[in-house]
Amino acid sequence: MNDPIAKRLFQNAIDSVELGLEDFRLAKSDPRRYVSATRNVFAGMLLLFKSWLAEESAERNYDLLRAETKEVKKLPPEEWADISEAKTAGFGEIKDRIGSKVDWGRIDKLHDYRNRIEHAFISGGHGESDAVRYLAQAFLVIRDFMKNEIGEDPARRLSLDCWNTLFNEQDVHLQEELERDDAVDNLGWIDSDFAELVKHEFRCPNCGSEIVTVNDVTKEAEGEKARYICRKCGKDFSYDELCAVISPRCHCSVCDDSIDPDELLIYLETGMCGWHAHIWEKEFGTD
Ligand SMILES: [Zn+2]
Ligand SMILES: [Zn+2]
Repeated sequence: MNDPIAKRLFQNAIDSVELGLEDFRLAKSDPRRYVSATRNVFAGMLLLFKSWLAEESAERNYDLLRAETKEVKKLPPEEWADISEAKTAGFGEIKDRIGSKVDWGRIDKLHDYRNRIEHAFISGGHGESDAVRYLAQAFLVIRDFMKNEIGEDPARRLSLDCWNTLFNEQDVHLQEELERDDAVDNLGWIDSDFAELVKHEFRCPNCGSEIVTVNDVTKEAEGEKARYICRKCGKDFSYDELCAVISPRCHCSVCDDSIDPDELLIYLETGMCGWHAHIWEKEFGTD
């Protein structure tokens, strides 16, 4: 994102989403907070879309960001420094201009819900469970749009508390898992079973999350050379550090001892610790 107005809208979007996530977290003990969570998350999502529209049309006097009104025709660029709601596209216009880049089915429910709670919110009833459901769907839209269309990783742009709130929602978590699987499978491995260990036997020593993925800043294609990152807390791991986390969770099929990090490949081939693999080779080896 390069355009200054797009950048400003994006920062406003982040601020609003963060407020919404904070409300969402606090709403577990005070359900009235779902009202402000809904308002903030919805506003943040629209600002996110607007930042993209601004970036896309910066060279055309922000025609995608502008509301279709007769009075406001061609604004000189300096007037865009003051972005007022009245001048920018409304929900219907944003929807048309963003088109199929997002799943509007998910957003429309939150939109209807937001309009309804402007009139009445009944805590403890359907209102509360609807809020949780619609907000959770909006979180996935926000995560995907930031990542795929704007090219910003929400794990890096949101505060850790807010990212954790988002990350812990089921749909977001599931999507993170799928992306982890793809990234890990696409690395080159001496033994492809190692990818399975990374996917299923890793637990972050820092935060307990099971999702560690390839840290894309390293651009390495080999599993042994790549760096890894915990998607929840952002802790970074080398291959050796990754092995040190995974190996104690693997056990020799003969003695049940946990596996040494440097014997992981032997374990993958034989299912045994280095010692028992050696004994087995001596007893039954062919050469
Ligand atoms: Zn972690
Ligand atoms: Zn053993």
